[in-house]
Amino acid sequence: METRNFINGKFINSLSKEELAVINPANQNLVGNIDQALDDEIDLAYESAKKAFDKRILIDMDPKDKSRMMRAIAAKLREYREIGGKILSQENGKTIKQCMGEFDGAADTFDFYAGMTDKIQNKLIPSGKDTFNYVILEPFGVSLQIVPWNYPVSIFSGMVAQNWIVGNTIVIKPPELCPISSNFYGKIFEEVGVPEGIINIVHGFGEVTGRKLVKHSGSDYIVFTGSPEVASEILKETADRIIPCHFELGGKSAAIIYPDADIDKAVESTIKGIFKPNAGQICVAMSRVIVHPKIKDEYMTKLVAKSAKLKIGSGEKPDTEITPLISKEQIQRVSNYVNSGVQSGATLALGGKESDNKEGNFYEPTIFDNVPIDATIAQDEIFGPVTSVFNFETEDEAIKIANSTSYGLASGVFTSNDEKAKWTAERIQAGIIWHNDWFVDGTNLPGGGYKKSGYGRDGGVDGIYSHGQTKRVSKRLY
Ligand code: NAD
Repeated sequence: METRNFINGKFINSLSKEELAVINPANQNLVGNIDQALDDEIDLAYESAKKAFDKRILIDMDPKDKSRMMRAIAAKLREYREIGGKILSQENGKTIKQCMGEFDGAADTFDFYAGMTDKIQNKLIPSGKDTFNYVILEPFGVSLQIVPWNYPVSIFSGMVAQNWIVGNTIVIKPPELCPISSNFYGKIFEEVGVPEGIINIVHGFGEVTGRKLVKHSGSDYIVFTGSPEVASEILKETADRIIPCHFELGGKSAAIIYPDADIDKAVESTIKGIFKPNAGQICVAMSRVIVHPKIKDEYMTKLVAKSAKLKIGSGEKPDTEITPLISKEQIQRVSNYVNSGVQSGATLALGGKESDNKEGNFYEPTIFDNVPIDATIAQDEIFGPVTSVFNFETEDEAIKIANSTSYGLASGVFTSNDEKAKWTAERIQAGIIWHNDWFVDGTNLPGGGYKKSGYGRDGGVDGIYSHGQTKRVSKRLY
């Protein structure tokens, strides 16, 4: 597999002569080494993106040609789903099925936006007979994009496709923990014959290459998906340049389960929301559950019984339900949170320790009950298979608990009463609200954060407008 940086339309030999190792979290084996981009590669990547932007390649491209290019990329992503999915699974631990699904989802994203290239309509503002006024959507310029490790192939596709529609050219950094699968994009861009410079892929550690990319004056816009801590650093670092940023950050998403909910559905959704997707290492994990006492015993009994039976193991095994955590550091971080949960007085209802299988970074599904609202485990994003359960009496109290963290990414409401669901959805501070399920998603649906979960929207038509700026043109006719 290609392990070099992709700059100006081709993979280039390393200038920095540095590389980084990629480790399989299921067994600590080396997956491969990838070239690390340092100053020379970064300068070249920005130069290439700037040249492509100044040539107006994406802005002036015939929308039909842009559409054909994006559909060709989608077709190639489908062609490479098996080999790509396998490598992604080795790098980041998810099941091969989930990883092939990520390639499929990325293909769907390129297809969806391929259909949008000729549908962005600008506005003509009615203003009488003396003047003529219109507003157009324009790109920012060169966009720096930084991708997290948990869904690297799908997040890459969303960032790139939306930005190309608007006309931004790109320098993108995949995550250091699983960068190799992202190089399928470089291979695909070469095969499809994507114009030079509209996308450049540079690899490296966040604290080295990431920092250098952010500090560099070559970017006009930054798109970042990752932790709020790094987003805050980016804002401080770019404060003097006053460039726009688009942030999709962490979450502490809560489900409210009312007494009239379908309990079996709520239990299935909890397992799907916190344990099965990547062992809870997902921004929209159902890491909090707010349950009415009338149904709590039944919910907890069923949840604990089903969760205890989940199969923990490597993503290579088709029956695995809980895959590894990404690193030993993440195991330590989750263990520290679990210890703090016990100290807070919460009741440990299930799990609470590393799995007996020490070959990989496996952690047992963990459920805390009766969690104090201000406990650290109730407030911080843990990013592991750990959820906290709370009690509520009144609907207002449920909303208060749901809104009690600094995050606001996703949320859920389980009730058979549509009016109550609507009332609840209107009061929860989050960018996505699911009703009677967790993960009702699609490329055509916009999402994003409230509060510390970020700003800007991705997905659907809203996503396109979120990655550009408008310009008003006003003409006096007489
Ligand atoms: P992270 O913030 O540690 O890293 C994200 C990316 O930033 C990586 O590519 C990393 O190399 C880079 N980076 C790290 N430090 C940097 C620095 N100082 N300067 C520039 N770049 C730097 O996050 P992660 O561990 O990769 O991902 C987990 C986080 O991402 C969680 O908080 C999760 O909720 C969030 N996330 C959010 C969404 C969303 O859509 N809202 C989606 C996926 C993940």
